Amino acid sequence: MVLLETPPVGLRMIEPASSEEFIASLLTDALVYASNDLPVFPCHSPKKKGLCDCPKGEGCDSPGKHPRTIAGYTDPSTEE
Ligand SMILES: [Zn+2]
Repeated sequence: MVLLETPPVGLRMIEPASSEEFIASLLTDALVYASNDLPVFPCHSPKKKGLCDCPKGEGCDSPGKHPRTIAGYTDPSTEE
């Protein structure tokens, strides 16, 4: 088990000022996890009105809650 000295931004519940700042905070969090040997993998995100940013759009049955890669959660990485 790896203990983080400082909780990643997402766990501190800081409201981002913009989508760019939100994406930057996700990257920061992912790098913190990876540097602590905690594997991460990219997921799709919900957009306004609860739609998914994946190619299925309105047809997605799990908006923002599924991997962006084909291997998904079975192929996480700690590479920075
Ligand atoms: Zn989707």
